[in-house]
Formats: sequence, C-alpha cells, structure tokens
Amino acid sequence: MNNRTHMCGEVTAEAAGQSVILKGWVQRARNLGGIVFVWLRDRTGIVQVVFDGNDISKELLELAESLRSEYVIEVHGQARMRAPEAVNKKLKTGEVEVVAESAIILNPSKTPPIYIEDDTKEQESLRLKYRYLDLRRPSMQNMLLFRHKVIKLLRDYMDEQGFIEVETPILSKSTPEGARDYLVPARVKPGTFYALPQSPQIYKQLLMLAGLDKYYQVARCFRDEDGRADRQPEFTQFDMEMSFIDPEDIQTVVEGAYAHVFKTLLNIELTLPLRRITWRDAMARYGSDKPDTRFGMEIQDVGEVVAGCGFKVFEEALAAGNTVCAICAQDAGHMSRKELDALGEFVKTYHVRGLAWAVVNEDGTLRSSFAKAMQGDSMQRLLDAVSAKPGDAVFVIADKKYVALTAMGQLRLRLGKQLNLIDNKRYDLLWVTEFPLLEWSDEENRFLAMHHPFTNVMEEDIPLMDTDPGAVRAKAYDLVMNGVEMGSGSIRIHQSDVQEKMFSLLGFTKEQAWEQFGFLLGAFQYGTPPHGGFAFGIDRMVMILSGAESLRDVLAFPKIQNGACPMMDTPSAVQPEQLEQLKIRCVE
Ligand code: ASP
Repeated sequence: MNNRTHMCGEVTAEAAGQSVILKGWVQRARNLGGIVFVWLRDRTGIVQVVFDGNDISKELLELAESLRSEYVIEVHGQARMRAPEAVNKKLKTGEVEVVAESAIILNPSKTPPIYIEDDTKEQESLRLKYRYLDLRRPSMQNMLLFRHKVIKLLRDYMDEQGFIEVETPILSKSTPEGARDYLVPARVKPGTFYALPQSPQIYKQLLMLAGLDKYYQVARCFRDEDGRADRQPEFTQFDMEMSFIDPEDIQTVVEGAYAHVFKTLLNIELTLPLRRITWRDAMARYGSDKPDTRFGMEIQDVGEVVAGCGFKVFEEALAAGNTVCAICAQDAGHMSRKELDALGEFVKTYHVRGLAWAVVNEDGTLRSSFAKAMQGDSMQRLLDAVSAKPGDAVFVIADKKYVALTAMGQLRLRLGKQLNLIDNKRYDLLWVTEFPLLEWSDEENRFLAMHHPFTNVMEEDIPLMDTDPGAVRAKAYDLVMNGVEMGSGSIRIHQSDVQEKMFSLLGFTKEQAWEQFGFLLGAFQYGTPPHGGFAFGIDRMVMILSGAESLRDVLAFPKIQNGACPMMDTPSAVQPEQLEQLKIRCVE
C-alpha cells in the first residue's frame, strides 16, 4: 500500500504539526551550506522541504545535497508553520514547510532538456519532443484536469438526459464528411483497406435504425487534411444522435450541455434558448456563417440607396445583379490614407475588386475615395443610410453577392480587432440555421454537400431540388461562439426518394451511391425513424474555455503542422517484412 499521507499541494496550514510522508519530483534544491531547501512537486502543487544539517544525520544531509532537478524522492518529516517573514505567498503551501527526518531517492533523473516551469521560454518543438516532461508543468497538468472535467460534465449531463454512450469502430469505411481518409491496409485481404472514421456519422445513423433512440459518444475522428493552424489530423468530437426529433430538440440538448459546462466550470449563466439566426441573415449582416457577434458594425445592403448615384462601379455592379454593401465604422475617421489603402489591399485578398471609403471629418466635411463620382445628394443619402456621424468611416464593396459579403465580413472582423471593439471576456453563442444544402465547386464542376449527403431538406424547398438546387435550404445548423464554429449537425434524410435525388444532385449515379454507402441505403429500407444529430469539437471547446492559445495546448500528445509527432517520431518508416505481409511496395 502506498504510505503517502499527503499530496504536496495539500500540506497547508491545516497540516502543520502533523507527520507527513510525501512523494514527488524535485523542482529545485538549494544548498545553503549545511541546510538544503528542496521544492517538492507533484500534480497538486509544490511544498518546501528543509534538510537542516543541525538536526539530521550526516547521511541524510549528504543525500539532500545530492538531489538534482526531477529526482523522484520520498520524504518523511514534520509539517510546521514557517516564520512570518519566510511565508511565500506564491505557493498554496507557502505558510508551511516540511522538516525532513528521512528520505529515499526513488529514482534519479538526467538533467532535463527543458525547464519544467510555467513561464517557459522553451521552443514549442523541443517541448513537444519531450512532451512527457512538458506535461509535468503545472499549467499543463491543470489543462488535463480541466479537460477531464469538461468531458465528465458532458457525460454526466447526457446520462441524465437519457443518452447512451456507444463506442463505434475505428477500423471503418469512408464516412461522408468529405475530407481525405486515413487508410489502413488489410493484411488478410491484400489490396483492400479500412478507412479511419472522419466521424461516427454512419454508425450513429445505424444506431438510430437499431432503435437506440438517444446516442452519444466522446469520439475520436481522423481527417487527412493539409496542416492548417487550427486543425489536428485526429481530434475528439462530442457526437450525438436522436430519433423522432426536429432541430429544436437537438439544439436544446446541445445548448443545455454547454450551459451545464459553463455554469459548473466558469460560473457563467448562459441565457437559454440561445439566439437563432438563419444562414442567409448571418451572411447578410455579418458576411460570415460563423459570425462574431461580440460587437455590432453590421453590414448593410445599400443597393437601393446607391441606385442611379452616378458612380460607375456601383451602377455596373447593380446592373449585373450584384450586391453593393457597406459598413460604418464608428470613430474610425482618424485612419490615415495609408491605413485606408491597407484595408483596400486586405479586402482584395478576398477576391473583390476594391474598397470604396469615405471619412466624415469632425467638421462635417468629407475625405473619400469616390465622393467625386457621386452625383447630387447620393453621397449624403448613403451616409444617412448607414447612420454615419462626424468621426466615422464608411466602407463600401460592390461585387457578386457572397463574394462582396464575405470580403466585407472579413473587413468587419479586422476593424473589430483594430478598433478594439471585441470584449475578450465575453462568450457569445448562437445557432446559425437553415444552411444551404449544396455548394457549387468550380474545381469539380459539380455541387458538393455543404454538410454531408444525408442532410435533410426543408420541406418547402423540396420542389427546388429540381428547379434551383443551389437555393435549397437544409435542416442543418451550426453552433457558433465568438466567431468560431463549435460544431454542426442536421436532421438526416430518411425518405429514400429524397436521398436518391440528393445523390443525383451530387453527381453520383445510383450505382456509385450504392457502392459507397450501400450498407446504409440498404439498411434504410427497414423502417428508419426520422432522426438527426450534432457533433462539436471538444478540443476547441476546451481551448476557448481554458483560454489556451492553440489546440496543441489542450491535447496531451498533439501533432505539429505536418501531422508529425516529434516525440514518437511518427509517421515513420516500417520494416520491409511488414510491407511484404501487406503486399505493399513503395514506389518512391
Ligand atoms: N458528422 C458530422 C460532423 O462530424 C456532425 C453531424 O452531422 O452530426 O461534422
């Protein structure tokens, strides 16, 4: 039996006067000549241990003098209050210290290649190479604890709501999220492969078919995408599915789970139900399907206001059926010409031709890139339409509708940051609903499913599937927090005629659809309950709630940009015999 009496962080004033047995790592040992002060660390904190040569044997003092960083030791001693002038307010245990009576070195340590302390200046690559040491840092331990709590709260909540957690296979077949699959060669049938699941999507739908009614899972998902700063090739998703429901039912469970985590961990009361905004509104007002609603500066369509204004750029855009949209940045009129030009260059990276700007000077006069071309009172009408006051700056973009709105949305975000409009302490959550069913891909010259091919259609839009597929709205919804997509879900297609139509819109022949998803389509013929679900990223949730800066900081063993793990040195070559068994030959 472990004879430890206290964890290091528990040796506070209450323990004073008690005999203690502690085990942990030497954070540092200071030898003041005849007296050695050791900071002993474990998961719960640090406590000071004193080896005083006046009171202990020569052997014990020698042992203390031999201690180095990261040695693992066991100490027996007495906890006592420190003298008032020796209290260390930075330590939870800073009022006490442990007077050592005996100690054992359980294991020495090589000099660690990184400093194990919170305000580390070590390179991230080095920290990740020695992740097991990096994880000894208190902030990393707290993060793992925080993550554990988030997952536990979610599990408890779902259990209370009557959901059952079911584990689904990792060795699987392609799932429909549309990223590249990680493949695993099957030795027993050379030339065939498993795919690692991009999500448990198909399994969870099959579980509804199986009559499970309410399923959830803390699920590992794998997507082989080129390294993006905010993505990991494998990630944890909180995945759920329910039968006999509409979007509101799913949203109520998800926001309830969020509210439970927020209340318990951050003591923040979310106001439920969360706001809902349709995709079209989100695009029109914020130029984004994941709007940051912590600040205003909404986009306005000024097409009607500038009709016939005389400025060719606006008039030609309107004649071509395009959009002219504007934002008014309050108190941004101090911007220099150089800053305004930089904003023009910035929006061009979002494929619009340019940015028209007008600054209302404090004395009511104008500085503007296009005022000269505006005839009559059209400039004033535009300024009035966006409620521009002296000191404000107005920005206008004219282009194809969603190109213009997207660029304006990015400008809005940039100005929000630049003008300090974003309250970083605020959590603003909302649902974006009624996503389009399809998005056109110029690259593939066909429609792609915006969510995935099993996403159901708003009933009233079913006829549009034949006449105007691009305008069809799906029963799909995203949860958005502070401008970040936290998760997405949908009601699934359970009618075989709608499913067939969906596949044909995606350019699949019936045979191709059956080849890829036959097991699901076949299963759907045996009484499929109407069903739908949702999934949100746990890594991202933990990152935002804990204030971490990157996804790598909230994973015990993350991958770096190119999907590599510097600690395990993966991916790595394998033995030729292994490839032989798999009947695989590398061509390069
Ligand atoms: N499987 C979807 C995803 O991972 C989520 C869902 O529709 O439930 O994005």
